[in-house]
Amino acid sequence: MAAPVRIVFLGGLGEIGRNCAAIEVDDRIMLIDCGLMFPDDDMAGVDLVLPDFSWLRENAHRVEGVVATHGHEDHIGALGHLLSEMPLKIIGSPLTIGLARNRIEERGVIKQAEFIEVNDNDRIQVGPFDMEFFPVTHSVPHGFATAFHTPQGVILHSGDFKLDMTPVDGRLTDLASIGHMAKDDGVRLFLCDSTNAEEAGFSASETSIGQSIHDLFSARVGRRIVVACFASHIHRVQQIADAAVAHGRTVATLGLSMNKNVNLARQMGLLNIPDAHLRNIDNVDDIAPENLCIISTGSQGEPMSALARMATGDNKWLTIREDDAVILSSHPIPGNESSVSRVIDGLIRKGAEVIHSGTYNVHATGHAKSEELRVMHSIVQPEWFVPVHGEFRHMTAHAHLATQMGTKADRIIICQDGDSVVLTDKGLERGDTIPADYIYVDGSVGDLDASVLVERRALGTDGFVSAIITLDIEGPHGVLARPPEIVSRGWVDGAEGDELRKAASESVRDAVESALGDGQRTRQQIEKVVRRTLGRFVSHRTRLRPMIVPVVLGAHEGAD
Ligand SMILES: [Zn+2]
Ligand SMILES: [Zn+2]
Repeated sequence: MAAPVRIVFLGGLGEIGRNCAAIEVDDRIMLIDCGLMFPDDDMAGVDLVLPDFSWLRENAHRVEGVVATHGHEDHIGALGHLLSEMPLKIIGSPLTIGLARNRIEERGVIKQAEFIEVNDNDRIQVGPFDMEFFPVTHSVPHGFATAFHTPQGVILHSGDFKLDMTPVDGRLTDLASIGHMAKDDGVRLFLCDSTNAEEAGFSASETSIGQSIHDLFSARVGRRIVVACFASHIHRVQQIADAAVAHGRTVATLGLSMNKNVNLARQMGLLNIPDAHLRNIDNVDDIAPENLCIISTGSQGEPMSALARMATGDNKWLTIREDDAVILSSHPIPGNESSVSRVIDGLIRKGAEVIHSGTYNVHATGHAKSEELRVMHSIVQPEWFVPVHGEFRHMTAHAHLATQMGTKADRIIICQDGDSVVLTDKGLERGDTIPADYIYVDGSVGDLDASVLVERRALGTDGFVSAIITLDIEGPHGVLARPPEIVSRGWVDGAEGDELRKAASESVRDAVESALGDGQRTRQQIEKVVRRTLGRFVSHRTRLRPMIVPVVLGAHEGAD
């Protein structure tokens, strides 16, 4: 009997983002990715969402490292946060490691990381983990599908992939090697990207976008062109740069991550832009605007990005003018639609022509659509299947597709964040669950409790009303040193507001005086009286539910 192998899903099953799974062999843990998620509009003031690391923290002594399947933020973006808690070996392609290293350096935890570079079709052993890396095509170069050769047979993780038959760099998804392994060893468990499982057909090749961009440039001779795309999408950047150079334009990169990634990819020989056609944005004054092509970050409408600042007119390097053409070579990630829409609106108000995926063929997905998934399933023919990387609807659609491809329904387990599965000689079964809450990070203050979000939402919808109470309790009879001051924001304005604040002050004064008369002297006691009185007043008079904030000065500290 071979030892069981457990797989724990920490994130990415139920949302697009914060992908993280753990595979346990011989009591050691290897993570597959450690990513972050960008917040929805209703997560007020949240900058990032991380996987819940509490289970990893408890098991830190068993953690060997992380396989970084590719260089996207939803796969490597939380490595820096985890490294600040435990040292890790980070295994990935040279580009993936280069992209991860930039982010880890920014957090100052590079000493905690040991990088292990692997190349296409390498097979390496790290601790008890025997791992093999297959090339896959995706919207960042040099991604991998990873096979774990375990005591329970092969567990294959697809990574994020599509089947691009004409990729920009000619590096195809290695179906031949995957098929060879599947035929020889068999795949006991398959974990596969579900993002586009609901989409019919095949995804478009990345090279088809190059032609579109070229055509857009041809039709806009004599005008300045700005193109926004993901900074890690090196192949897209290559195609934009190719179109620019072909039209005699000079490329200027804009945005910190765009500058960094273009430098990195050029150093690694993965991006080819002639020196004479590349400038820093702060050094383009001698080039006529119509001979420029600016490649910018911000294609997801991120509020602080270069593109968002162009839309609001406060980008220090570039002011959008009439007749500029702005191409958003991207598609909004679920949750980002309204920010992207706001940026497009802002740019059009400034007089620019905006071309985006809703109006022109300027973006190709990086994820396999259903026909590509069928091809993959037909080659892998797994014994057991767990769909990963997607919202619940995507994973459900993927499970359905797998049954059509011959995997029996009772050999498919749909998991969610926090679930685990155990592979034994008998097959795959569900295991224990672990904590997998969203961990909210506000860049300025660190981790946030979910209750802070509830408060921020209340402030956003109904504002707050505060009563400032100053007591004089040194004499034999406690008294109010001055009338309660009522301060509000986002509650009721104008003359009506003044009147309500005056009436509220009187009502709070009466209640506090009566409490003082009863001998109440501690801050906690008076706060309670103020909160109750003011809360009742506000809801009775305005039918609104603003946050009530009592501030009591000059009282005794102590239990009530
Ligand atoms: Zn992903
Ligand atoms: Zn990806």
